[in-house]
Amino acid sequence: MSLLVIGSVAFDAIETPFGKTDKIVGGAATYASLAASYFCDQVKIVGVVGDDFPQSEIDTFNQHHIDTEGLQVKIGEKSFFWSGKYHNDMNSRDTLVTELNVLGTFDPIIPESYQDSEFLLLGNLSPQVQQTVIQRLRTRPRMIVLDTMNFWMDVALDELLETIKKVDVLTINDAEARQLSGQYSLAKAAQHILALGPKYLIIKKGEHGALLFGDGKIFSAPALPLEEVFDPTGAGDTFAGGFIGYIAKIGTINFNNLKNAIIYGSALASFCVEKFGPEKLKHLTQKEIADRVQQFVSLSKFEIL
Ligand code: AMP
Repeated sequence: MSLLVIGSVAFDAIETPFGKTDKIVGGAATYASLAASYFCDQVKIVGVVGDDFPQSEIDTFNQHHIDTEGLQVKIGEKSFFWSGKYHNDMNSRDTLVTELNVLGTFDPIIPESYQDSEFLLLGNLSPQVQQTVIQRLRTRPRMIVLDTMNFWMDVALDELLETIKKVDVLTINDAEARQLSGQYSLAKAAQHILALGPKYLIIKKGEHGALLFGDGKIFSAPALPLEEVFDPTGAGDTFAGGFIGYIAKIGTINFNNLKNAIIYGSALASFCVEKFGPEKLKHLTQKEIADRVQQFVSLSKFEIL
């Protein structure tokens, strides 16, 4: 089934305790669409870049069967640029630079061939643009997943709340859940956020796994204790892409399938952090993914006799 992914396609400069990169390719839609492409062969990007964005990276999308007809290239303009520095625990980071550039005036154009997509991932972008995409789709997708970040809670809270009302699943991290709800307890935060509109809420807890709330139930997904974590950038977007890509493959939306999707999303995110940028996501095999998913299953499976 087809999956439309919107989000930033960007340059990032990242500093972690293990090293530092100059400008490398990043962006929410980059990570999410690559992750989703391992499950869904009809991933379609809506985004914008400047003419500084390398054609070789667009070719990489196409090699992953990701449709880039909706990726606008603005001649004479610069791509979105973000720079961040991770603290020693790798769980928290400071944003050093956010240069919107082409994203500042982004008007998302939905190609005719993207209409009637069954699944929609609203990756990290301004809530106004996320809403415009929903409005420009002739038929409402069967499932809309919204990923966002604290930046938008700080600068566009009212628009974000309007967008949240219109989606089925919201994915945010624990700090963002607390910020959005004003509640410290994640259980209380979840009740508060589900009352804002979405049917399901996923709270990502970095290296501590993820929680799914909805249908009156809670599921706790483990995180794999990895030996090598080089760069957590994009882990959240990769998670969201793997999550919705898996649901688009299975086609049936219910709590049990969402639980499995969280494990697939977590497995993809665990690969993402093993190298700087989206490098690792470009060359995975289905066997590597299946083995990693199995590790997640073994990690938390137990019987009480
Ligand atoms: P994550 O680590 O999952 O939060 O995502 C990191 C990615 O989000 C980076 O590749 C950035 O290019 C992108 N990003 C950072 N800030 C923003 C923003 N304000 N809007 C859109 N994308 C962003």
